[in-house]
Amino acid sequence: MMNLFDLTGKVALITGGNGGIGLGMAEGMASCGAAVVISGRNAEKARGALDALRAHGVKATFLAADVTKQAECANLVAATEAQFGRLDILVNNAGTAIRKMPQDYTEAEWHEVLDTNLTSAFLMSQVAYHAMKRAGAGKVINIGSMMSMFGAPYAAPYGSSKGGIVQLTRALATAWAGEKIQVNAVLPGWIDTDLTRRARQQVAGLHERVEARTPAARWGTPADMAGIAAFLASAASDFVTGAAIPVDGGYSVGM
Ligand code: NDP
Repeated sequence: MMNLFDLTGKVALITGGNGGIGLGMAEGMASCGAAVVISGRNAEKARGALDALRAHGVKATFLAADVTKQAECANLVAATEAQFGRLDILVNNAGTAIRKMPQDYTEAEWHEVLDTNLTSAFLMSQVAYHAMKRAGAGKVINIGSMMSMFGAPYAAPYGSSKGGIVQLTRALATAWAGEKIQVNAVLPGWIDTDLTRRARQQVAGLHERVEARTPAARWGTPADMAGIAAFLASAASDFVTGAAIPVDGGYSVGM
């Protein structure tokens, strides 16, 4: 029987793939045979990430890009096609958070979070669409959050961007389903990364509250994101589109 999760010959591009959740997902796809392009702004951080990816025996490279800029998104997809010949899988994972009470944000801070987390996913998907049409099919995986569903006092722009990710996913899924491009969102629970290390410094008691509320009784790790990436990138999910799938140790279904 055909291996439903085989990604041999496929090329995946992961924004923010140089660490954290993006790297965990990149490793999941590399372990199934995909060649991977990781992107971000920090080339230094990418070195260790590339070693980890190449250990799976696949081709991997880093391309620098700021995904808040449309021209850099276009260049990123063009460079991926130039170096790897095609683009089959896009993971819109680059993200940031600024934690404050709603009344304290500046307009620039609002735009920084929305541009990084939501507009970038739209811009990247737009350019990737044309590359996926050239490849004959495609998979777009957008990264939401528990804050796609729940509110938090310190997350007005972040929660807005992550709620928007789910609706963007549904819109793109309906638009492109007939063209063999599936678009899904992953909603990670609390995962131990640079982003949440900063959150734990800024939000008193967060570490313990997450452990207490999560039925799995632990924080997630980037490795916990590998399986969902392999599934949503592969033929195993060819009839799954427009979904928003929590990967959260039960956080969103417990009380
Ligand atoms: P990290 O801070 O480790 O990763 C964020 C990544 O985004 C970095 O690799 C960073 O790369 C990249 N990035 C940020 N801004 C830009 C930009 N303008 N252009 C290009 N790349 C950019 O955090 P996580 O791994 O935790 O976060 C990854 C995603 O997962 C985010 O979308 C986050 O919102 C989401 N998420 C995280 C959760 C968690 O618990 N950790 C829970 C739910 C969702 P560089 O610094 O090189 O630019």
